[in-house]
Amino acid sequence: MILHVDMDAFYASIEQRDNPALRGRPLVVGGSAEGRGVVATANYEARRFGIHSAMPVRKALHLCPDLTIVRPRMDVYAQVSKEIREIFESFTPLVEPLSFDEAFLDVRETAHLFGGPEQIGRSIKETIRARLGLVASVGIAPNKFLAKIASDIQKPDALVVIHPDQIESFLDPLPIERLWGVGKATGATMKRISIRTIADLKRLDPDSLQDLFGNSAQHYWELARGIDDRAVVPYREAKSISSETTFPEDISNREDLYGCLVYLVESVSRRLRSHGWKGKGIELKVRYHDFHSITRSQILPNPTDLTEELLRAANLLFHTKIPQDNRPVRLLGFGIHHLRQETYQQLSLFDQPKLEKQRSLDQVTDLIANKFGRNAIRRAEGNRSPNRRDR
Ligand SMILES: [Mg+2]
Repeated sequence: MILHVDMDAFYASIEQRDNPALRGRPLVVGGSAEGRGVVATANYEARRFGIHSAMPVRKALHLCPDLTIVRPRMDVYAQVSKEIREIFESFTPLVEPLSFDEAFLDVRETAHLFGGPEQIGRSIKETIRARLGLVASVGIAPNKFLAKIASDIQKPDALVVIHPDQIESFLDPLPIERLWGVGKATGATMKRISIRTIADLKRLDPDSLQDLFGNSAQHYWELARGIDDRAVVPYREAKSISSETTFPEDISNREDLYGCLVYLVESVSRRLRSHGWKGKGIELKVRYHDFHSITRSQILPNPTDLTEELLRAANLLFHTKIPQDNRPVRLLGFGIHHLRQETYQQLSLFDQPKLEKQRSLDQVTDLIANKFGRNAIRRAEGNRSPNRRDR
């Protein structure tokens, strides 16, 4: 399970904690009313007047003349934020901070040590309250998207768990604005065709979705079903390189598909070397014509930047982990993660001459590709692929 922990009215709560005279009164942390200051955080007492973050302070004062305005003390908030993160990291190393006051935690590997995900959620709330005198809301769900909604839906001081068998009943009645990426414009478009809830959106077939939302169609299709395979990536490992291709026509033949994969691996490994990185994790993504996707990943024994080694690993993954049937494929992706800047590599003496040869080959290839374009030199089985998207 994934946890999303979000502090309640973070800046304002710290100010009230540190100055008891402010407790129980409407308060915002923000800029000055004379200038064009805006509200950074409003406490819950102020929110009752309709005051919210990003609102001009002048307007907030108009809504609530009794409002107390406190200038932000960012150094204090940063220090508290660091202490919160240390609490998170006592439960799992996989903590991805989104801002000063919220983070995702992947507890799948560590939950059994602490009595399960729900108990971790409770312990985190209790520890934050006891040590820092602050209140957090926690959402617990099978993925990031659901965990983030869960932490928000009963704020403040909430602990909401969505079990896998509750995903549908939880999501279906929610307004479509809850979908990550649906802003005002998209929301209005959806409402024009009577899509108000996530259940409404689910009734659209993939083709209509594609017509309406183009590149975002897949994204909405998955979110509406509670599908989100984004990993929780700790800050210091946030780097990854990937490349994916959407085919103008679906590809059914597995050999053709493998040819495209070779092209992607070459292009990704070239970018890897251009940054001076080596990668330890590889990931393969296949999306079928009906929008179902599978992602398969593997951790290599040693970090590498050699095309040949990455190709060998990708080849193995492709032929053993991707069904070798003829289902039409719409998109293929390849990525490398767990990147690091590294010169040292463990090698057996026996391997070394062969690796050196591969390294020189890659250097020559990169040189030619840089000079004449990446299509000037490619392995024989590599296909050219349109609509490539690099990240
Ligand atoms: Mg917050």
